[in-house]
Amino acid sequence: MSELKDVIVIGAGPAGMTAAMYAARAQLDVMMIEQGAPGGMMNSTDSIENYPGFLSIKGMELGEKMYQNTKRDGVEHVYGIVTGIEDLGETKKVQTTDKEYEAKVVIIATGGVHRFLNVPGEEEYGGRGVSYCAVCDGAFFKDKDLIVVGGGDSAIEEGIYLTQLAHKVTVVHRRDSLRAKKDLQKQAFSNEKMNFIWDSVVEEIVGDGNKVTGTIIRDIKTNETKTIPADGVFVYIGMIANTEAFKNLGICDEQGWIKTNELMQTSVKGIYAVGDVRQKALRQVTTAVGDGTIAGQEAFNEIKALN
Ligand code: FAD
Repeated sequence: MSELKDVIVIGAGPAGMTAAMYAARAQLDVMMIEQGAPGGMMNSTDSIENYPGFLSIKGMELGEKMYQNTKRDGVEHVYGIVTGIEDLGETKKVQTTDKEYEAKVVIIATGGVHRFLNVPGEEEYGGRGVSYCAVCDGAFFKDKDLIVVGGGDSAIEEGIYLTQLAHKVTVVHRRDSLRAKKDLQKQAFSNEKMNFIWDSVVEEIVGDGNKVTGTIIRDIKTNETKTIPADGVFVYIGMIANTEAFKNLGICDEQGWIKTNELMQTSVKGIYAVGDVRQKALRQVTTAVGDGTIAGQEAFNEIKALN
């Protein structure tokens, strides 16, 4: 076990990096454990246009700027996949696949992962036409016909992004209207490359054995099925909480999101949760950053009270 830290932040998306920065600026000894590149979901977002201070900024660039903030303020960044937290009372043990760490306060900022369609062909053609990240894979589909599944902000935002590359983008949505923000809807409906198929769900992703050639969709009102030819399918149908490692603590709701109060405290003293991983109404960079600010400051208050 390594030396006792004041704070361990798990996850280096916008929520975790903000929490780490605030705690470090309060002169706490902070470690941030991340399993991938710092930036979180922002790394798979092309442009962010609703983060105040920037008219438009590439998601990856915003992530890098936040990471520079944490480095400037002395946050220790280590690579690791966290597999569990043990509550030892006044301290917490954080387990990764190969090491153990200990801290007075732990802030969980592990976000969520994309929900899968769970239809035949999805797994088979993963990476061969089925994607969950337009920014990562869009360039493979220049002048191709694409399907975007979903009707929320992410689906429409990424669908619009894909029109810059693709020949045509068809949005398949299970309702008869979009859930996405009005400004995104306006952009989507005025985009000549975007088409919409309403009240329909994907039943199967089909291919030639090597790559995707289309999807079979079913109209949920008429029950009719038809095949839509496409070279790629981008899936944006919601998120699943990244909380498997924390289930034993009894801090999650039935869907797996972590329950907190407005100070980001969970029901276990000394364990906080911030950002998308939290049970909350709106999952955005701004709300993640707000959560991180509160938790970073509360970590300071809690540790000060211990001394
Ligand atoms: P995340 O960004 O998900 O970061 C969580 C981090 O935790 C990840 O880096 C992950 O690797 C790490 N992690 C997870 N589990 C572990 C583990 N066990 N051990 C170690 N590390 C772990 N929001 C906006 O405000 N504006 C937009 O324009 C916008 N566009 C979006 C477009 C798309 C396609 C998507 C998917 C999201 C978009 N969002 C947008 C939402 C925004 O990206 C998220 O709300 C935000 O990134 C959440 O931040 P977070 O720090 O809570 O979680």
